[in-house]
Amino acid sequence: MREYDVAVIGGGIIGGSILRELTKYKLSVCLLEKEADVAMGQSRANSGIVHAGFDAAEGSLKAKFNVAGNRMMKGYAEELGVKYKNNGSLVVAFSEEEMQAITALKARGEKNGVPRLEILNAEELREKEPNISQEALGALYAPTGGIVCPYGLTIAAIGNAMDNGAELFTEFEVSQIEKTKKGFTVSAVDGREISCKLIVNCAGYASGKIGAIAGDSSIRVGGRRGEYILLDRESGNFVSHTLFFAPTKLGKGILVSPTVDGNLLLGPTAEEIPENDTSTSAAGLASVLEKAKKMCPAVPVYNAITSFAGVRAYNDRHDFIIEESATVAGLINCAGIESPGLTAAPAIAEYVVGELVGKKLSLKKNENFHGRREAELHFQSLTVEEKNAVIAKDPAYGKIVCRCEQISEGEIVRAIHENPPARSVDAVKRRTRAGMGRCQGGFCQPHVAEILARELGIPFEEVKKSGKGSELVKGEIK
Ligand SMILES: Cc1cc2nc3c(=O)[nH]c(=O)nc-3n(C[C@H](O)[C@H](O)[C@H](O)COP(=O)(O)OP(=O)(O)OC[C@H]3O[C@@H](n4cnc5c(N)ncnc54)[C@H](O)[C@@H]3O)c2cc1C
Repeated sequence: MREYDVAVIGGGIIGGSILRELTKYKLSVCLLEKEADVAMGQSRANSGIVHAGFDAAEGSLKAKFNVAGNRMMKGYAEELGVKYKNNGSLVVAFSEEEMQAITALKARGEKNGVPRLEILNAEELREKEPNISQEALGALYAPTGGIVCPYGLTIAAIGNAMDNGAELFTEFEVSQIEKTKKGFTVSAVDGREISCKLIVNCAGYASGKIGAIAGDSSIRVGGRRGEYILLDRESGNFVSHTLFFAPTKLGKGILVSPTVDGNLLLGPTAEEIPENDTSTSAAGLASVLEKAKKMCPAVPVYNAITSFAGVRAYNDRHDFIIEESATVAGLINCAGIESPGLTAAPAIAEYVVGELVGKKLSLKKNENFHGRREAELHFQSLTVEEKNAVIAKDPAYGKIVCRCEQISEGEIVRAIHENPPARSVDAVKRRTRAGMGRCQGGFCQPHVAEILARELGIPFEEVKKSGKGSELVKGEIK
């Protein structure tokens, strides 16, 4: 049985960031993920907003790690070669009551340590966002708000951790945890086992279940689904800031925001659901459209290319749970990390490793740690001279596979071979954007599958769309 100092359960942004932070020290570490790829839970389907930090209650862990994570995010994304944009955010008020609500938000944000918050009047707001509704009365402006690709950041953090010695086990669905003299034995549904001194439980929606399996039944996690509509990159410049509605008694409402890849994102809804169900519904998407039109009446909905949903894993303490279990020594819970968990991730990782793991194990600096991950090469964004130079080195970059997003074969081959390796069509899509454009993979999917079969040395019939049982074809008909 393989032995580790620390096993992290859950390959989302929280588990991924903690895993990477652990590799800064001389520790043997592994990541156990139930799906066939990483970034398959909340960290795959969310708004990608780097929140400024005015939402969370003063003194909460959410407020503390949100503001700290916001400060760290630019450097964090840069180090990991992931796109980040400091586009600023606006919380828009449509009534006098909402103007009062945003003034209260400003005061809360200032107490949380959010810098340079400002209340804008209608004219100043329209100067920043010409497409905003004429009904808008003003807004809270947070210049430190930003956007980042959530799954890109997760994949890059885990890839960098693997480059620094961490091991990744995919399709490792933790089903049993036994306390041993030295720590724990962790078993998967398929019978695989590892042993470790400490466990960091980052299983998102399943973090309550993992706690219970280990003997701590104190964590209760619920699910709140959020549905989105994504618009083509033609609409990416329709707004430049992230636009939120002022919070009301009914919640925060939806947002209208550019994405870091140049699309326009509308959503999410907020619906309590009993299961981790990421399907979309006609009613949910209709309500997204209705609210988006209230914010920006001319929103170009005809450019919608896809819809998706994510499930927020909230806990009944209404704050992040980040602590060693009171009942199971050596089990560190990072449970029910809902929004702003993406923003907070780098700060949470520093705290968990420095403070919580550091109390249990001696942390000796890993002198060989290399934190910089080479940025993905976006062939299409290069100059003609740069393109020619890249093609001269590797002709695969001269062959465009995804026409909508202009992704070359070279980029796909790289994604298949670098850490964490892409093993399915969707895994390639999340790493390269092949299949994320207007045709949603209609043209390039078979070509991506052919490249996967060739590079992995497997028959075409074995290439999967996503995880187990998602093979694209049954067999030959001629
Ligand atoms: C709709 C929505 C919008 C959001 N918007 C924002 C935003 O704009 N900004 C922001 O800062 N935050 C946002 N968030 C919050 C953010 O996405 C989460 O806080 C963050 O992704 C949580 O990461 P995680 O690693 O804890 O969980 P997850 O990403 O859910 O990862 C948990 C992992 O555990 C794995 N797992 C589960 N069970 C097992 C098992 N038995 N064995 C092994 N592995 C297991 C899962 O497969 C999954 O990969 C949003 C969330 C949602 C859902």
